Amino acid sequence: MLKCPNCHSKDIGKIGINQYYCWNCFIELSLSEGLINTHQVEEDGTLSSLDDLFAEDDRRFLI
Ligand SMILES: [Zn+2]
Repeated sequence: MLKCPNCHSKDIGKIGINQYYCWNCFIELSLSEGLINTHQVEEDGTLSSLDDLFAEDDRRFLI
């Protein structure tokens, strides 16, 4: 079960291939090479990476 690395919510919606959205803290998650990449959607629609905020252990995707 995918968990949000930011808020640890399991309220994750799938929005595309390997792309997910956390409905609890409103960040976008994408999966690649076993890691969760996190992005915040800015007001102008661009994405900014939040990966620096998390340790790699928190971003590891375990099924
Ligand atoms: Zn979240």
